[in-house]
Amino acid sequence: MASFNLLLLPGDGIGPEVMTEVKKVADFLGQAGLARFETETDLVGGAAFDAHGKAISEDAMKRALAADAVLFGAVGGPKWAKVPYEHRPEAGLLRLRKDLQLFANLRPAVCYPALADSSSLKREIIEGLDIMIVRELTGGVYFGEPKEIVTLENGEKRAVDTQVYTTHEIERIARVAFDLAKVRRNKVTSSEKHNVMRSGVLWKEVVSKIGASEYPDVELDHHLADACGMQLVRWPKQYDVIVCDNLFGDMLSDIAAMLTGSLGMLPSASLGAPDEKTGQRKALYEPVHGSAPDIAGQGLANPIAMIGSFGMCLRYSFGLVQAADLVERAIADVLASGTRTRDIADKGGNAVGTKEMGDAIVGALKRLA
Ligand code: NAD
Repeated sequence: MASFNLLLLPGDGIGPEVMTEVKKVADFLGQAGLARFETETDLVGGAAFDAHGKAISEDAMKRALAADAVLFGAVGGPKWAKVPYEHRPEAGLLRLRKDLQLFANLRPAVCYPALADSSSLKREIIEGLDIMIVRELTGGVYFGEPKEIVTLENGEKRAVDTQVYTTHEIERIARVAFDLAKVRRNKVTSSEKHNVMRSGVLWKEVVSKIGASEYPDVELDHHLADACGMQLVRWPKQYDVIVCDNLFGDMLSDIAAMLTGSLGMLPSASLGAPDEKTGQRKALYEPVHGSAPDIAGQGLANPIAMIGSFGMCLRYSFGLVQAADLVERAIADVLASGTRTRDIADKGGNAVGTKEMGDAIVGALKRLA
């Protein structure tokens, strides 16, 4: 039986609560003989600051670099609002992204039929939706230099952010998108602003070149980022994989997120470059939501985004497609049976807690396996 080494970083707030449910799922898959998971747990975020005075210890970083994959809960909360900027809880996540060189952020937006009425869009527009946003995560306007606010001679201030992309950065994110499309519905939409931005011109040129030379069988089209945002709420099912830069990806993935209902439902993956010898990518999987201090400690959090993130880990890091399908079907079955946490329950409807939702998913896994 294949064995994988997982580092669990539950973090703060509801992070540890939802991570507990993932452990149950991993334990079940082990018992069912689908794979063995060796897990280690460490601190990150506010919890790490309290213990070590920094948002992630060097020891935890070493473990993250050595692990086959990292599962990350959530960090932050009012308790750490006044800690020095460089030690704020989010610094732990940024360090992980930087040191593991996680340049590709994958955010699926899947609408489970049972939740089609929870979206702000009409059922027919989102029912059966299954799209993937691939966002470049380590370049672009969030990191480009110069990045500054300067005071001009007349006393006015001038702020500058710089959008920068190199061919190599665009090529590697394009390949991630095309590879994903090949195992999905074979279509990539590249979203940029080639009409008004030089970086958009290069983005379009490089993605087109990679598509034509390396993935001639994958359909490719280009949508200007603003039009893509509009199309995402008009007819999202036209898309399969959307690839975009850091800034547009930030916005488009949040739009796509809202198509599916609750923050508690959204998983994500961040991938690094494949290792030259093993082909294995460094990877971190996390729910899109934060630490939800308003409900932390009450057993109310929806664990589906965290469990779905583990499902992505099974698929993209471990190649355990059957186990990943099983986890996704178990989630769909539980939702179809009407089991809901408070965030996805109908107004006035019955809701279960975090543990009950986790148990229901493990119960569904047992029936399906
Ligand atoms: P949040 O995602 O924590 O919460 C937003 C709202 O969604 C809250 O009402 C919360 O109760 C609800 N919610 C979130 N996840 C849920 C779940 N699984 N089940 C049910 N309801 C859920 O965002 P926020 O309130 O803006 O931020 C809270 C803290 O989290 C802040 O300190 C912020 O910096 C941090 N944060 C961390 C991450 C991360 O760790 N990656 C991401 C976003 C925010």
